Amino acid sequence: MRAIYPGSFDPVTLGHLDIIERAAKTFDELVIGILNNNSKSPLFSVQERVNMLEEVTSYIPNVKIVCFSGLLVDFAAKLEAGIIVRGLRAVSDFEYEFQMSQTNRIMNKEIDTVFYNTSLEYAYVSSSMVKEVAMHGGDISGFVPALVVERVYDKYRKDLSEK
Ligand code: ADP
Repeated sequence: MRAIYPGSFDPVTLGHLDIIERAAKTFDELVIGILNNNSKSPLFSVQERVNMLEEVTSYIPNVKIVCFSGLLVDFAAKLEAGIIVRGLRAVSDFEYEFQMSQTNRIMNKEIDTVFYNTSLEYAYVSSSMVKEVAMHGGDISGFVPALVVERVYDKYRKDLSEK
């Protein structure tokens, strides 16, 4: 069975990687779908996010990275992925995720959503928190893979030197 794990991954965190490792054990193939969403004004370009995800998942053979735009269920159907993987951190994630999975199921009842509970040590880790901490010069090495740390700092250094 092929599954798709969609998200912004701006940037990929240890919380994401934990879900990726666990889902890659469950499914034959896990496609990570990076949403190319222009309305979100991301820190990293889609290509930068593809590169980072490819590097940090290079040790997992059944993981593939792609980007997509438009409706997730249409993209999942095109890929012949029967499962959408999402992660749940707290009750605050639940309402949105529940609504999205119901909507997706109404649009395509062949595609189901499977939720992975966060591992407790990453329950508070989010891409937006990582950016907030890095912007103020804080230590993000406990939240993102090692090679992502410098790339995040580089973005803010560049921002500062451009001002
Ligand atoms: P989106 O913009 O689609 O929410 P994200 O990159 O923020 O994209 O998140 C992608 C998925 O990963 C979501 O299902 C989110 O709940 C999940 N996720 C993010 N961080 C964690 C974490 N620390 N533990 C478990 N799941 C997580």
